[in-house]
Amino acid sequence: MIDFENAKLRAEELTRIIEYHSDRYYNQDAPEIEDFEYDMLMQELIRLEESYPELVTPTSPTHRIGGKADGQFEPVEHRVVMESLQDGFSAEDIRDFDARVRSVVANPVYVVEPKIDGLSVSLEYENGEFVRGSTRGDGRIGEDVTANLRTVRTIPLKINTPLPFIEVRGEVYMSHEVFFNLVEEQELNGEKPFKNPRNAAAGSLRQKNPKITAKRKLDIFVFNIQQIEGHELSEHKQSIDYIKSLGFNTVPFYNTFDSIEGALGEIERIGQIRGELPFDIDGAVIKVNDFRQREALGSTSKFPKWAIAYKYPPEEKETTLIDIEVNVGRTGVLTPTGVFEPTTLAGTTVSRATLHNQDFINELGIQIGDKVIIRKAGDIIPEVLRVTEHKSDSVYRLPEVCPSCGAPVSRDEDEAAIRCNNPDCPAQLLRVLIHFCSRDAMDIDGLGEALLKVFAEKGLIKTASDIYSLRREDIACIEGLGEKSADNLINAIEKSKENDLSRLIFALGIRHVGQKAGKLLADNFGSMDAVMAASEDDVSAIEGFGGIMAKSVVDYFRMPSSRKLIDELKSAGLNMNSLREIKDERFSGKTFVLTGTLTQYKRSEASAIIESFGGKTASSVSKKTTYVLAGEDAGSKLKKANELGVTVISEEEFAEMIK
Ligand code: NAD
Repeated sequence: MIDFENAKLRAEELTRIIEYHSDRYYNQDAPEIEDFEYDMLMQELIRLEESYPELVTPTSPTHRIGGKADGQFEPVEHRVVMESLQDGFSAEDIRDFDARVRSVVANPVYVVEPKIDGLSVSLEYENGEFVRGSTRGDGRIGEDVTANLRTVRTIPLKINTPLPFIEVRGEVYMSHEVFFNLVEEQELNGEKPFKNPRNAAAGSLRQKNPKITAKRKLDIFVFNIQQIEGHELSEHKQSIDYIKSLGFNTVPFYNTFDSIEGALGEIERIGQIRGELPFDIDGAVIKVNDFRQREALGSTSKFPKWAIAYKYPPEEKETTLIDIEVNVGRTGVLTPTGVFEPTTLAGTTVSRATLHNQDFINELGIQIGDKVIIRKAGDIIPEVLRVTEHKSDSVYRLPEVCPSCGAPVSRDEDEAAIRCNNPDCPAQLLRVLIHFCSRDAMDIDGLGEALLKVFAEKGLIKTASDIYSLRREDIACIEGLGEKSADNLINAIEKSKENDLSRLIFALGIRHVGQKAGKLLADNFGSMDAVMAASEDDVSAIEGFGGIMAKSVVDYFRMPSSRKLIDELKSAGLNMNSLREIKDERFSGKTFVLTGTLTQYKRSEASAIIESFGGKTASSVSKKTTYVLAGEDAGSKLKKANELGVTVISEEEFAEMIK
């Protein structure tokens, strides 16, 4: 057994690693490791704490629930704690759980349900009306996401029995179909796609725009009553039946068993059908059915002792790599996709997976014909784990010319990507156009991939500016489109001319410039001309901009082809200005004290100017004063400023500061 000193060191290390990954997962909705790997780290820490209970601290991750409310939303204090679940990974773990239950209560009946992989929410109803919805947060304080939850179709805004009060708990999730469509759209738009449906659901709910949540088509499965007034219940199964009758979408199946062997049989059955379910599950939950027995069993600070989650291990399979397809993206990057001998994995047939880039291929030593092990990351996106049998000594090399246009490709020094640099490459043109018209960019409704392809093939669109020269008759004559569609499309194109500058900047597809960077550029410079005239230093002075991004922006606008495109877009009548009122906060956090006789401004004028730039004025000098603006005949305040070492400025210096 590991000795105490080493156990302590390892426990500290594990705590650091777990805390890092918890933050990525719960707070940032951007995990870096698989759930199974995370679970194994947690299990190791649990075992160390079991061996040396003195290692347990009140803040240990083994005792804490989930993430934290991050301040974006109003906090909600949960009257009933939203607990987590203890985990089991084998039949033995589940039998041990049964033994612990039986040591407290007699003849427990278990309910087994699928464990939906989404994010936990609480829904509160007063007199039958949905009044508040919140996330779990740390179990005690969650986030108020009512406005977003109102857009989830399967959450009733009114239930059919006006109970004085009911709070239910459920799992918000994204179905596979919705997830795949979303990822496809994100990839086409050159955005970073969500890693799995759970993150897509969390990311869609934990952002401030309910319209985005609505578009993401989330769903819910309700699995518990947290509190209820006006109706008595004594068992879990009965309570789920009841909430179903109120109009809630409950967990799709919840069967009872009077022995743990029966429950284990159900776990196996769910494991076999899990791949066929249209949504992700990450396990099965076994719960004691009787509420009085639950009370007798109680809870720890993290989870109830009357329930356990059985976690299925990730499934891995061996298959043969029969081909590697190379596609060209919007920015010219060549992306290799592995094509396999089709095989079933976690219930679905898998035949393709990304091979990322040349570095990944080299690292695994991949060649066509190799036998490889694949697995589904997060149980949904297939990935290649390793090669088990190399067909030859050689390793696959990405082509040296672009598979779309035949131009030579090159590799950037600082990146793994291999890129086609031909600006006229047809594969890139199509991706550029798709991005330009996409929802988060110019948002030209109706101008999607299929239609853009037709226009590009007919030679009607060669650059993004050609979109604005399309004529009604060019559109109406396309098969499948009529006069009405042509009118709608022309209207959508016209409407896009009014877009804010930030959308246009994002739409240009400048490398490293996403939606947020587009907004920062538009907000900081105010006009396209100012952005184009900015130096690398000007751009990198914006908070949130790094050197690489700044260089990319300046390089882009230096290219004659970019300048030509902007000129054409200007001539087409596109808005080139930021529509946001620019607020100058140059004095934010600064406090001024005015003293002496000011000759250029009245005191009230000077104060108004300071406030308009986000600063404050105070009547007396203290250590907190930033500047003392001293006019003629300044007296005691000037003296105090000098004593305290506060910066004293003249009217001329002030005039300079407010230029
Ligand atoms: P948990 O996911 O293991 O269990 C609790 C959750 O299960 C509850 O919040 C509940 O909403 C949900 N649930 C779904 N269906 C349910 C049902 N039918 N009955 C009851 N509950 C149901 O515990 P947790 O504390 O929420 O999170 C741990 C999970 O998050 C683990 O799966 C872990 O792997 C994952 N995680 C992953 C990372 C990572 O970096 N990959 C980091 C942190 C956590």
